[in-house]
Amino acid sequence: MEPTKIAAQPAKRRRIGVLTSGGDAPGMNGAVRAVVRMAIHCDCEAYAIFEGYEGLVNGGNMIRQLHWEDVRGWLSRGGTLIGSARSLAFRERVGRMKAAKNMVLRGIDALVVCGGDGSLTGADVFRAEWPGLLADLIASGDLSPEQVEPYKVLNIVGLVGSIDNDMSGTDATIGCYSSLTRICDAVDDVFDTAFSHQRGFVIEVMGRHCGWLALMSAISTGADWMFLPEMPPKDGWEDDMCSVITKNRTERGKRRTIVIVAEGAQDRQLNKVSSSKIKDILTDRLGLDTRVTILGHTQRGGAACAYDRWLSTLQGVEAVRAVLEMSPESPSPVITIRENKIMRTPLMEAVQATKDVTGKIDKKEFDEAMTLRDPEFKEYYNAYLTTAAQDDPKTILPEGKRMRIAIIHVGAPAGGMNQATRAAVAYCLTRGHTPLAIHNGFPGLCRHHDDKPVSSVREVTWLEADSWVNEGGSDIGTNRSLPSADMAETAKCFELYKFDALFVVGGFEAFKAVSELRQARAQYDAFKIPLIVLPATISNNVPGTEYSLGSDTCLNTLIDFCDAIRQSASSSRRRVFVIETQGGKSGYIATTAGLAVGAVAVYIPEEGVDIKMLSRDIDFLRENFIRDKGANRAGKIILRNECASGTYTTQVIADMIKEEAKGRFESRAAVPGHFQQGGKPSPMDRVRALRMAIRCMQHIEGYAGKSGDEIAADPVSSAVIGVKGSRVLFSPMGGDSGLEVTETDWARRRPKSEFWLELQDVVNVLSGRSHANNSS
Ligand code: ATP
Repeated sequence: MEPTKIAAQPAKRRRIGVLTSGGDAPGMNGAVRAVVRMAIHCDCEAYAIFEGYEGLVNGGNMIRQLHWEDVRGWLSRGGTLIGSARSLAFRERVGRMKAAKNMVLRGIDALVVCGGDGSLTGADVFRAEWPGLLADLIASGDLSPEQVEPYKVLNIVGLVGSIDNDMSGTDATIGCYSSLTRICDAVDDVFDTAFSHQRGFVIEVMGRHCGWLALMSAISTGADWMFLPEMPPKDGWEDDMCSVITKNRTERGKRRTIVIVAEGAQDRQLNKVSSSKIKDILTDRLGLDTRVTILGHTQRGGAACAYDRWLSTLQGVEAVRAVLEMSPESPSPVITIRENKIMRTPLMEAVQATKDVTGKIDKKEFDEAMTLRDPEFKEYYNAYLTTAAQDDPKTILPEGKRMRIAIIHVGAPAGGMNQATRAAVAYCLTRGHTPLAIHNGFPGLCRHHDDKPVSSVREVTWLEADSWVNEGGSDIGTNRSLPSADMAETAKCFELYKFDALFVVGGFEAFKAVSELRQARAQYDAFKIPLIVLPATISNNVPGTEYSLGSDTCLNTLIDFCDAIRQSASSSRRRVFVIETQGGKSGYIATTAGLAVGAVAVYIPEEGVDIKMLSRDIDFLRENFIRDKGANRAGKIILRNECASGTYTTQVIADMIKEEAKGRFESRAAVPGHFQQGGKPSPMDRVRALRMAIRCMQHIEGYAGKSGDEIAADPVSSAVIGVKGSRVLFSPMGGDSGLEVTETDWARRRPKSEFWLELQDVVNVLSGRSHANNSS
């Protein structure tokens, strides 16, 4: 193992305080853990301020130094372990003066604040007032000029912790995806009972003035109707809602009706739209047996999902870096995320933009409110409308623009495949295209009788596609076979079924299949159509993207497994679990899961395993167990990707650890296997499937009416849609700068350079392994 690449920086700030404030959110503990450990790694001291700003004002025992071991196991704990409060005292200058005094007396001159826009506003007010507060403390004799001198500058860094996802300037806040997971689990359950009794359910979700949770849960569960604060329904919505629901139940045959209501829902006159009012409308007008379910505080609770653990950890690390890099003149930053990229944004810009949304809603300027929320929000809103509003004659394209779009799944099943297919079908029906599902991959395509089409390639109805909204795996069937198994036959079938475009959902094989088809365009005109890949694989090893559908579902399944197994050792046993992850020759899942569960070490094919590494890690484990305190004692996790080493198998590593531990601790091997492919897809995989599939359809639609040669001449006519840094884009397969040449390691079936490799350093820094390795 190479020494860590995150160099321990000389401390510019000796003591960094961290507090959580406002409503608690899953992931806050992960953020505090990351801040504490990264601060210690950078030679600083970390102080927790308990009960939010209240602790800062009161001081004393409410400000305590946290050591490395104090935050052990925090990643998997819900809520905030250092407490949160809404502090009236801190809203007053006199309270903030007490807070400033406590900070100077404790020698803390940098604060990482994790909370909502209120908490971050408070932080900014505090920083702006800081010089004045110190001057007053000297004037009042509370502090001497000498005491104050080293603390002239206060650094503040914000982390957005809130389940509401209401902060502008960031795609996600710490906690929002955990909360969404809780909501979707509940709605999935309600789904079954609603289906059984043909009932209607009105489900109220949290989010205050922000409709993110309502929108995303409506998308993830295929709700028939939703109410958001930012975009109230048109006047007369009662009739519209009833007619959509009637249509869904009678014409489309839906047995269950789900309406999602944000707690801040209102109509265009800003009158509250309550869940009971909606229930009454459905009961009175449609005679529908309707129940109200208010999910309440269950939405806040529970352990953080994989994404929130990843986000809070990386943002906590970034917050400490920001503290150390800030100059007295720099504006306070808030740590944000855009797509897959952790960024810094001026804190007050983000807070102001958030307030502007509320201002626009108050002025009934709803379109502007939607636009200001953030670009992704509006895109998701439009995507939801696409799935909810088919058969509208206004959206149907003229005859010459309509296409026959084939949808195929290639490779192993992954969460989100069904949802991507559902979204593609919805888009096709909205625009007048014909969605053709190819069942069982390329072998299914080539199954025809005497050149006559068979049922393995057929049009999909909405009722069928809609039922896939929360189902895992691949309902149309997926297969690893490639078109090269019989290229001529494949081309013949493309002609037989008159495909105008091919939408391929799958992993590395999907990528390879499209590459083969693209290259065969020279021989077969049938392939001169748009060929678009939407990556879906738990291995996340498709060139052209940093995210594949299914990887989030897999991660969540894996962390549940690790949490449970680790818990089993918490009572008395000192145990190390060596857990084998899937992922083929890509260590993405192992590394990201390692980050999310706080693994002691992660073994991946990209680095291999050797005897020195194992020996150092066993020493590290030995020290680790010695330092373990009673309260936080739990099993320790090592993750080993299935292809990390041919010699050091999971069982061999577990046996070596046991042997070398000489009775001080024991070790077990565990292989979750196909369990990792997950059950129901995670909400993140569901919503991203919708958004990406619709983008693919829009991209495909751009080729309508073009000749085969025109299409073949356009490099992005065979492309992969993917997340790259802060953007979602289509990357061409072929050509000198295409993915096939520039980014693909064909032999190892993965991208040449993998963005996530640097996460290894974070795993090692936060487990203490890099420190142990450097000092040994
Ligand atoms: P959530 O979104 O979960 O409600 P929040 O951070 O917006 O979180 P608030 O109750 O608005 O929650 O703020 C939390 C605390 O931050 C307040 O109790 C108060 O102590 C402090 N605070 C908020 N606004 C200010 C302000 N303008 N000046 C000073 N302190 C403030």
